[in-house]
Amino acid sequence: MTSPVAALRPPPPAALAALKAAAGADWTDDAALIAPSLTDWRGKFTGATPLLLLPRDAATVAAIVRVAAEHRVALVPQGGNTGLVGGGIPAADGSAVLLSTRRMNRIRRVDAAGQLLVAESGAILSDVHAAAAAAGLAFPLSLGAKGSATIGGLAATNAGGVQVLRHGTMRALVAGLEAVLPDGSILNQLHGLVKDNSGLDLKQMLIGAEGTLGIITALALKLVPAPAYRAIGWAGVDRPQRALALLARLRQLSGGQVESFELMPADGVALLEQQFGLRPPLAGVHRWQCLVELAGPMPLDDLLAEGLADADDAVIAQSEAQGQALWRLREELPLAERRDGPAVHHDIAVPVADMPDFAESATARVEAAFPGARVMAFGHLGDGNLHFNVRAPAPDALVADRLADESPVAWIAARHQAITALVHDLVAAAGGSISAEHGIGVLKRADLARLGDPARLAAMRAIKRALDPLDIMNPGKIY
Ligand code: FAD
Repeated sequence: MTSPVAALRPPPPAALAALKAAAGADWTDDAALIAPSLTDWRGKFTGATPLLLLPRDAATVAAIVRVAAEHRVALVPQGGNTGLVGGGIPAADGSAVLLSTRRMNRIRRVDAAGQLLVAESGAILSDVHAAAAAAGLAFPLSLGAKGSATIGGLAATNAGGVQVLRHGTMRALVAGLEAVLPDGSILNQLHGLVKDNSGLDLKQMLIGAEGTLGIITALALKLVPAPAYRAIGWAGVDRPQRALALLARLRQLSGGQVESFELMPADGVALLEQQFGLRPPLAGVHRWQCLVELAGPMPLDDLLAEGLADADDAVIAQSEAQGQALWRLREELPLAERRDGPAVHHDIAVPVADMPDFAESATARVEAAFPGARVMAFGHLGDGNLHFNVRAPAPDALVADRLADESPVAWIAARHQAITALVHDLVAAAGGSISAEHGIGVLKRADLARLGDPARLAAMRAIKRALDPLDIMNPGKIY
């Protein structure tokens, strides 16, 4: 989207002074303090900014936004900076000011009767988990970045994670929201009403908008009773179709108590041992491996064992520690892959029933088109969502192919765009989504424009123009 009124770049001194005044004492222009916020978790995007604002409440955010609008300075909201599409990183030209929510991190209340938790947007996910647990409740969304990701960032990206199967994404888990809109007004929808048909549900417009329509300052989150029992198991199968059959069987047997069902390839399990010394749970080679968790009010181990009976091999955790050890394998997989070397990452979804065939056929297509490439597809099979990552050939394969001069980094750099174009084309042809849970940010902006539904794109851009005519709210992302 071309901005109707381009931000001034870089922001003039008078604008920066006015923003600092609006933030009170909560800002820094010390380059060393700002630096960690300028590169994303994967190290793909690095930006620049003359100023980092660290407001402590919604009123201060509103004052900052009004000043930004007056001076036409772009603002980039940032929470935990664990996003994977560059959405929270300011542009490299230094035209935008970064607004961190990390000082707005209070948990305001836990309403046990209403099963709601109200917290400021900079609250860290694991702190929200702990606060809910202290009241005998649970916030049923978790992911590998839970120690850093904020609830504001999770809402802004409509994050998913490992319990979507049962509880849905952030869209299903946000009961209410408070946000500062691009004109500086404060939208107060924190009430958390179960029923409210008094017009459009504006909170859903901000969820998944990646900070382009406003800055979320607080959220009312839906809680569930903390399950008394969990059963966690690990199973091996030869094909992803059999993994999906296991899931169907478990769902039928448990009456909807399947909390998580994660799929990993044998290569990924081997990487965990190579990189972190984590022992594989199963002996023997199993091309595909599944981590399964059931949760409910009654013991579930026997049911889990019955549900996994058709697997080639399976183990059930016998203690909390064993369960955590199995989960650690899944959570460390992205880190093990990152340590192993560069990869082209894709976060894709296709209809659940089609995912096993897609995983196999797309792997074959990509590995044929890019000889030596190693696909590592893992993730949330039960949601039809896999992280379909394409790694460079192993260094010995590069030598054998007389590409020894080409490092894995150079191999990826030379093919990155073509690999992504092929994967996204295959996803589009399968009626899927090029962003299942990470968002669009900068990374997928061009492919969204290329492959997105034109009517939907036009409507999204019209909403952006109507709410943010000056294009000050996280410009250059999504649209
Ligand atoms: P940031 O990275 O700071 O920001 C993300 C986006 O939200 C940016 O566009 C930013 O501008 C915007 N934003 C941040 N805060 C606000 C706010 N208060 N108001 C408006 N806009 C805001 N994601 C999943 O969905 N599922 C997973 O399983 C998953 N696993 C992950 C595992 C690892 C190891 C890592 C590093 C990331 C993973 N992610 C996953 C991605 C990431 O954790 C999520 O996107 C998360 O929601 C980002 O939260 P954050 O606070 O770090 O946001």
